[in-house]
Amino acid sequence: MYNSQRLKLLQQFTLPLADYPWHSRCHELKSINQVGLRCYIKRDDELGLLSAGSKLRKYLSLIPALQAEGISDVILIGSAFSNHILHCTPLLLQNNMRPHLFLLGSQDMPLLGNMLFTKLMVSEKQINWIHRCDWPNVMRLANDYSQQLTGKVKIIPEGAFIPESLPGAMTLAIDILRNEQQLDLEFQHVFIDAGSGLLAIATLLAFAWLGKESWLHILLLADDEQTFTDKLAHMTPFFCQLVGAKVDAPQRFSLHRPQQARSFGATNQRLWQKIHYYARNEGLLLDPIYSAKLFMAMETIVQQDQLIGNCLGIHSGGSLSLTGFHKQLSQLCNV
Ligand SMILES: *Cc1c(COP(=O)(O)O)cnc(C)c1O
Repeated sequence: MYNSQRLKLLQQFTLPLADYPWHSRCHELKSINQVGLRCYIKRDDELGLLSAGSKLRKYLSLIPALQAEGISDVILIGSAFSNHILHCTPLLLQNNMRPHLFLLGSQDMPLLGNMLFTKLMVSEKQINWIHRCDWPNVMRLANDYSQQLTGKVKIIPEGAFIPESLPGAMTLAIDILRNEQQLDLEFQHVFIDAGSGLLAIATLLAFAWLGKESWLHILLLADDEQTFTDKLAHMTPFFCQLVGAKVDAPQRFSLHRPQQARSFGATNQRLWQKIHYYARNEGLLLDPIYSAKLFMAMETIVQQDQLIGNCLGIHSGGSLSLTGFHKQLSQLCNV
């Protein structure tokens, strides 16, 4: 149950949006079902070219905001293999904005995975490689660089964690309600992964504002609990501004960390076996950075907490990053 009057308002507040696809389907996930529990997967991995996924939602409002500001040059910050950089770059090019990349890494890194495709779109001249020891100063370095550009510049931090991405990110909550209506059910539990945390925060605030009772399980892949809580507090006023009302602090959620390959980007054998299992048994390509860890965590939590009712896991996309792991994948294929 939720406040349907408010849903109408929320749909208005997320406008105007770019016309990228943002409706994704849900279907049943056989592997995690147990007595009294039905599990579903939301296929945000089917959104956009090359499995841009949930990220595309942020760009729904971010790109129009850049256009409205008359931006000509955009500085994107992130790792050399970042999904955000890979998927934001083409949208900038399509809209006549020049991308300038500040990438964590070095020029002599092997050309594979996401980076191969990013470098196909952006020449070395427009890439600034930042070594790990300088990474804490990346915002200042980007700022200094922006002074030398003649056009109107915008600096976008890692994961596009800025208020301009918030209205677009809110479409995830709206689309989950549409899935519920279509399937004629309610999800008691929703599982979502968090990198920068913006999509999880937008979903959490939208659910709270709507009075939606679903419990949100958030898997923190990059941040600790305190950082996530601080980010939630930072974004809340922007959400309140959008809906023009005070929003009570969300209560119905829990924060989790991966039990396997805990640090961001790390993988291990169990993770690869899980990816193999989902490919063979569910016909799903899970990426090793986000979704494989999410569905592993979902399996554990469902069991530990003896969840009942309907459960939804969001496949947030990023499947293209699998192309960076040829060795691990070819070993699985021989099994
Ligand atoms: C970026 C990303 C996320 C996390 O989104 P945030 O808003 O940064 O938390 C999840 N899954 C995939 C595949 C991503 O690329």
